Amino acid sequence: MSIRVRFAPSPTGQVHIGNIRAAIFNWLFARHHGGEFLLRIEDTDRERSTAEAVQGVLDALAWLGLNYDAPPVYQTAQLPRHQEAVEQLLRAGHAYRGSKGDEGGEVTFFRMPGTDITFEDSVKGTMSKKAEDLKDFVIVRSNGTPVFHLANVVDDVTMGITHVIRGDDHVENTFRHIALFRALGVPVPAYAHLPMIVNAQGKPYSKRDGAAFVGDFRAKGFLPEALFNFLALLGWSPGGDKEIMTRREMIDLFEFKQVKSSPAQMDMRKFEWMNGEYIRLLPEEDFRRQFRQALESAGALPSGTDELYFNRVATLMHSRTRSFPESPALVAFFFREDFAWDEKVVKKRLHKPGAAALLAAMRERFSGLDCFTADPLEKALHALAADKGVEIGEIIHPVRVAVSGLGVGPGLFEMLEVLGRDRVLSRLATALALHGGNESGA
Ligand code: GLU
Repeated sequence: MSIRVRFAPSPTGQVHIGNIRAAIFNWLFARHHGGEFLLRIEDTDRERSTAEAVQGVLDALAWLGLNYDAPPVYQTAQLPRHQEAVEQLLRAGHAYRGSKGDEGGEVTFFRMPGTDITFEDSVKGTMSKKAEDLKDFVIVRSNGTPVFHLANVVDDVTMGITHVIRGDDHVENTFRHIALFRALGVPVPAYAHLPMIVNAQGKPYSKRDGAAFVGDFRAKGFLPEALFNFLALLGWSPGGDKEIMTRREMIDLFEFKQVKSSPAQMDMRKFEWMNGEYIRLLPEEDFRRQFRQALESAGALPSGTDELYFNRVATLMHSRTRSFPESPALVAFFFREDFAWDEKVVKKRLHKPGAAALLAAMRERFSGLDCFTADPLEKALHALAADKGVEIGEIIHPVRVAVSGLGVGPGLFEMLEVLGRDRVLSRLATALALHGGNESGA
């Protein structure tokens, strides 16, 4: 029997990372077994489903490379099948009509079998529920529309779904669904319920905790490959300490045995680290394009910036960029003289006794260099430190702040080389004038 799985989102809003992670696990499972990955849009909630949300689902899947093996199935188009199934259940005595307190007209109830229900969940193990806790439930509302449980199960039957892989918020529903499959006289699919994604406090991860929708990650310029890899490992650990994996590796290794049943914690810092690893893997051309986009959209790249200069900055930053959204703040100083000063760092590094004198002396020696490249710059700094009897850090830090306004950044000597003689010397002079106090020029 070949494996068929599906991703079955309800298009009522943006695509949450928890949902798309279910899609990723379905996709990996299907690809691992050479099965089929299908898409079903559960759009029967006419009031909350929107065309925009459907498009959001399609875009998220395309962006993450989650290709499906047949055209999407729209649940609303399956209504005749839902109705046939209800007729079948009524004829066989598995369903009956009646009235329900809060609904005006007649509804259709499903008759629970009156036995305990047990199933093996590939993630959570044996799950069971006592007969007395399994009450009859409505499958068709008084207005004639089938409820989620019925539509979901009938569509899974129609689509020949063999494994249902979804969030563990559906575990309770599964007992009802199994009873429905049995009453319809069809095989019950295998189940895997995925642990929830939680925040640092162990609560369901939501938009209040930060980027929670696929669209947020995309809008912020994160890489789809990084998000895919990160979400695949949210709850699944293939063993070993390898975390950056190609899709092929993930497909080859994917197994439910290694999916944990405990909640998976979303760690944005770890995601950013992973995104940085993927940025390093980008071809230089791609990096430049996205780096430029990030700077331009933040207004951090003045028009008319020299192409060659921009490329040198990009090359310098490629191995050090963890995410494109953070780029503008970190590199704005390359492109403008009125860059922001990190006041704390200025105080710590430039206002330190002796710093101005060292800075002035360093400027003097830099200005005398024939060749303004990393090597001679580094040698000059080491020589000055030796002559003055200070640690190199005593000079490195103030120089960095003076030319960039920041306490962190790329390697100082490469950075000075890229900035070039004119910028470096004039910025050192400006810093001395602004922050040098009485000591300047001493
Ligand atoms: N539309 C349901 C949801 O998004 C489907 C659950 C399922 O995968 O069966 O939660």
